[in-house]
Amino acid sequence: MEHPENNEEYKGLVVNKGIEQPSSINPYLKKIRKPKKKELTVSEFVEGIIQGNITILSQAVTLVESVKPEHQSIAQEVIEKCLPYSGNSIRIGISGVPGAGKSTSIDVFGLHVLEKGGKLAVLAIDPSSERSKGSILGDKTRMEQLSVHPHSFIRPSPSAGSLGGVARKTRETIILCEAAGFDKIFVETVGVGQSETAVHSMVDFFLLIQLAGTGDELQGIKRGIMEMADGIVINKADGNNIDKAKLAATQFRNALHLFPAPDSGWTPQVLTYSGFYNIGVKEIWDMVYEYIDFVKANGYFNYRRNEQSKYWMYESINEQLKDSFYTNEVIKKMLPEKEKQVLNADLTSFIAARKLLDAYFKELKIES
Ligand code: GDP
Repeated sequence: MEHPENNEEYKGLVVNKGIEQPSSINPYLKKIRKPKKKELTVSEFVEGIIQGNITILSQAVTLVESVKPEHQSIAQEVIEKCLPYSGNSIRIGISGVPGAGKSTSIDVFGLHVLEKGGKLAVLAIDPSSERSKGSILGDKTRMEQLSVHPHSFIRPSPSAGSLGGVARKTRETIILCEAAGFDKIFVETVGVGQSETAVHSMVDFFLLIQLAGTGDELQGIKRGIMEMADGIVINKADGNNIDKAKLAATQFRNALHLFPAPDSGWTPQVLTYSGFYNIGVKEIWDMVYEYIDFVKANGYFNYRRNEQSKYWMYESINEQLKDSFYTNEVIKKMLPEKEKQVLNADLTSFIAARKLLDAYFKELKIES
């Protein structure tokens, strides 16, 4: 029907044609908008890493940490190609309970070791970080001076997955960092539970940070952790705390005498220091370098690295087998039912496990 406004007889209000409003979006924006990040090829990753390109190194570490199979397959290829360029570093594990002063210490330790030149990567293994979302180890904000140093690379702990998975990612990241020319690697971990074992299995020197104070320092520390230490350092030896720290050091020395001599032939040392006031830091690093010279001369350095490679082969097999089992669709369906039967005492744990494994092997068409 003809619009009434077009009728000459029409006397009502007429709506004039409006003015077209310009678009509120900058018309040039499209042109300057960043293009979608180009996916790098394996050889571009490897080349970038070997040239020491930190952006590319970070991207590669992100792939290592990714759970996506397509990322993992690129990451594994990159790692393999970087392997020949890796290994040329000293790897130091640094452990201590929360509050022991790890971040304060790593900040000053880092600046100290960089005085002689070279490049330092600070990595971390913190299996609790995903749950607590608390102090994510290796967090840049915790290491103020080091984080702005041009020759440092700080990467927080990968947070997803089991301890084994987190540790594997950190170990793979070490390879990438070394290929990128980092000749000093710190791996930080919390001094509680199993994570020390994981760190110990990827470093040349394991440094345990302890605190003095309660008089029964030795009670709370697990024997196994002390046995792993190549050096024990008592932090916060400053102010009124100096005597207590010295006393604690004596107690640790006495306790260490009771342990069998380590395979390295090195006698673990106990020192006191203050990370906050930068007292005694040089002595700690003199000790670390003395150890490295010592074990390089007696062959233990290479022996330990070879043993670690072997350990990681088995760890990797274990991790992948477990993964394959628990992500299997048949198993995922069966597990809750079998768990219930075990809880109701309808099945013994062993028979339930057997049935699950049989089902898994049948799925894979493997004779068990
Ligand atoms: P982390 O949880 O092991 O990383 O410990 P932090 O480095 O965050 O330190 C915990 C607290 O101890 C902080 O308040 C630090 O300022 C303090 N602290 C660290 N090192 C020293 C030290 O050498 N002397 C003293 N007096 N305090 C320290």
